[in-house]
Amino acid sequence: MEGAQTLDKRGKTEQNKRKIPRDVEMDIEYLYEIVPQLSTVFRITDKIGEGTFSSVYLGEAQMASGKRERFALKHLIPTSHPVRIAAELQCLTVAGGKENVMGVTYCFRKDHHVVIVMPYVEHQPFVEIVASLSFEEVRQYIYHLLKALKHIHKFGIIHRDIKPTNFLYNRREKKYALVDFGLAQGTPDTQIELLKVVKSQKTQKVGGSAGKSDEKRALTPLPPNTKIPVPHTSTKTAAKRPCPPIRTKHSKELMGLCKTSRSVFGERNLNNINSTKNPVDKVEGHLLKPTKTEDVVSRRFVANKRRPLPARASVSIQKPKPTAVKPSLTCSCYLSDRICNICLSRKQQVAPRAGTPGFRAPEVLTKCPDQGTAIDMWSAGVILLSLLSGRYPFFKASDDLMALTQIMTIRGSRETIQAAKKFGKAIVCSRELPPLDLRVLCETLRGIRSCGDHSFPTEFKASHHPAEITQDQTRTAEEEIAQSTSESRQENGWNNVPDHVYDLLDKLLDLNPETRITAAATLHHPLFQDIAD
Ligand code: ADP
Ligand code: MG
Ligand code: ZN
Repeated sequence: MEGAQTLDKRGKTEQNKRKIPRDVEMDIEYLYEIVPQLSTVFRITDKIGEGTFSSVYLGEAQMASGKRERFALKHLIPTSHPVRIAAELQCLTVAGGKENVMGVTYCFRKDHHVVIVMPYVEHQPFVEIVASLSFEEVRQYIYHLLKALKHIHKFGIIHRDIKPTNFLYNRREKKYALVDFGLAQGTPDTQIELLKVVKSQKTQKVGGSAGKSDEKRALTPLPPNTKIPVPHTSTKTAAKRPCPPIRTKHSKELMGLCKTSRSVFGERNLNNINSTKNPVDKVEGHLLKPTKTEDVVSRRFVANKRRPLPARASVSIQKPKPTAVKPSLTCSCYLSDRICNICLSRKQQVAPRAGTPGFRAPEVLTKCPDQGTAIDMWSAGVILLSLLSGRYPFFKASDDLMALTQIMTIRGSRETIQAAKKFGKAIVCSRELPPLDLRVLCETLRGIRSCGDHSFPTEFKASHHPAEITQDQTRTAEEEIAQSTSESRQENGWNNVPDHVYDLLDKLLDLNPETRITAAATLHHPLFQDIAD
């Protein structure tokens, strides 16, 4: 194979051998083999992203002008449905290339292998920069994300997977790019033709809620004679000159692959709170009481594998009821650790559940079938929460009920229940959780405000303080950090955070999708008054 030979020749460079790990080298070799046209255009130097549905590589090409340029090459898993692939491409071609939305340069196809070529945006993992960003950088970051959202929403695209790894940020060059339309869906009036074909089907599998949704490639059957216009796709080689081997510095550090995480929530953290005597299985039963047979199986599976400890409150979602629910009337297992026959026989609710649990809006977590662009706004709110608190990931949950519990801890249980009622969902929570003041929450987590603040729940302080330090050490460490960082904080603007940002955060994290702020409206928010564009 031409591709393989080319690589062999190039692979002999000593530097190359040292730079690229063997497994990555093999992956690159394989990519050249399956899509040989690539080798005549690109010198692939690294793997920069790997997900469930794609692998992304860094490639360099010599342009006709003589300039060398870097590209991101996204190789989609060959089992992806052609329409799904075409829809992802159509989002990039129709809406991309402007307003902080990634565009597409080219697309290669060989048999069922598709490689999308995009301009490369160098970026650092969010987790590495989140705590060091100045307030002004945060304001700019969120502004540019909202701008991208306004743009795609105008096209009737619901991204469905808004999170930092899908919003690339080049800190040095102040460049931003929204990527990954692999889960996107269309609004009823979407301008992306193929999103009308792409529909989510309920294909959730056992244990499937932890990472990316299994529904990613779910499709409705194509109507007969549907044309699939794959934009810019070619099985031929692009008319570009092959480039000579070049040594580059790119490596894994650039990528958004999550390394260490300092989440505010983790199931373990939450658990220390009320649980010392609770046998794990009992509380699991509580937590995992779903309304559908399928979920019973899947959640049990997850529970057996991971044995999560109890959260501070148990939550369950009852079947949708437009009117208020009297728990005692719903079934015989209310707030018990068993699932009654009524619940087991409930009809399964079909609703899209794409995305990552920690970024899912309440209406997604409760499987509300009617989901719109507001779900992306919620996710943007979670990102802002991370940016303001300096913690990422903020919510870390392996399943939807855990994620919902974590939301209630911040936004209040009564408030969440009330909002859910508006979209036809009844949530049952065993304990009342008051809503937290967002400023107090963020400032405490950031270390600007002392943990002694009375409006901050005690359990939060002990179990969520950064680093694993004992109670005794806490104060000293805190004082030290406070002293050493007070100056830099001043410079970074964290001592004078305007109320506007917490107002915006509150509007993004509106539990009710009907009243949640739209992307277009956010750009007129007073927080961005002086940002001319
Ligand atoms: P997936 O569907 O597998 O999540 P993405 O499109 O999100 O695929 O890409 C995965 C990762 O690859 C991203 O998080 C990012 O780190 C990297 N990546 C994707 N596109 C680009 C790009 N154009 N420039 C630089 N890095 C990119
Ligand atoms: Mg992604
Ligand atoms: Zn029941």
